[in-house]
Amino acid sequence: MADQPPAPDADVNAIVGAALRDLAFAQPSPQKQFGYKRAAAAVLALDMQLTELMAAGGALPRIAGIGPASSRVIHEILDTGGSPTVERAVAASDRRADIERKRQLRQHFLSRAAVRRALADPSLGGPSPADYRGDLQMHSEWSDGNPTLEAIASACAARGYQYAAVTDHSYGLAIAGGMSMADAGRQRQAIAAVNEECAGRFRLLQGIEANIDAAGQLDLTDEEAAAFELVLAAPHSRLRRSEDQTPRMLAAVAHPSVRILAHPRGRIGGSRAGVMADWARVFAAAAQRGVAIEIDGDPARQDVDFTLAQVALDAGCLFALDSDAHTTDQLAYADTAIAHARLARVPADRIVNCWPLERLLAWLGDASLERAR
Ligand SMILES: [Zn+2]
Repeated sequence: MADQPPAPDADVNAIVGAALRDLAFAQPSPQKQFGYKRAAAAVLALDMQLTELMAAGGALPRIAGIGPASSRVIHEILDTGGSPTVERAVAASDRRADIERKRQLRQHFLSRAAVRRALADPSLGGPSPADYRGDLQMHSEWSDGNPTLEAIASACAARGYQYAAVTDHSYGLAIAGGMSMADAGRQRQAIAAVNEECAGRFRLLQGIEANIDAAGQLDLTDEEAAAFELVLAAPHSRLRRSEDQTPRMLAAVAHPSVRILAHPRGRIGGSRAGVMADWARVFAAAAQRGVAIEIDGDPARQDVDFTLAQVALDAGCLFALDSDAHTTDQLAYADTAIAHARLARVPADRIVNCWPLERLLAWLGDASLERAR
């Protein structure tokens, strides 16, 4: 273990959040587990790094959800880079192997403070929030989301977007309230009505989040897929397997209607690694077809993250930076995606959300217009 304070550019809040989660899992009592998990969430949601907060006030400020035991862990990490308290608890725990496994599943996740720092850091290239014209993955009350289409349109317009795509789940994913094709037809009319209201100011697109099955096929026919303005393909099964699934992902990317490979791995922080594949090969195929690779900004997903985004960038890929919001408040998750794109130094021109509506629509109509040259 490191025995010096974390580097000035370290994501201290992510380190502390991970340590508090480890400590939570090492607790036999559900009540203590809950307390440390709540403390971890509070640290990960801070706007500023703990180091900056300490430097500003000389001491750790009072933070809701963080008690004396969690404060001790924070001080240990700020002083030495690690926490003997957490290590002792983990070593004594009968869940040690499980905790070690969870640790491996928290790589390259950014805390909120790290997201904000990446957005503000002028030394990073990549898109600024001002370059971002619209969000291309979100869920409404038509599947497993909460907001109405009207609420989505006004929240997106209030964020300064020129367009957004509602991408409810298709009917194959019943667990997520997948939308039947009859419902999709009614939703299309409802979207047209919203667009009439917003004419000239904002445009809502009808997308669909299609599910990629075990063989790489989508859960809707080619004809059904072609009825949507935007088709995202995303894996929601076989996300905890160690075998290679490159052929599955290549098949999804080859589908004629697919424009975005959404949360490509399907990973969840501290829980599962998602799909294992030869991503350089998958990304090369996507680049050749003009299919964008998504950076999903849901804090629990952050999929792909900035390290894998660099592989996609080298392959010549387009990118989509999306919130995957299920409430209008969660539209702010787009910031997390933008931060990863900045850390990977993805040029704004390669990001479909930074294009004017006309260019976006042209690509949606014919992906070959934007394939890697
Ligand atoms: Zn999904």
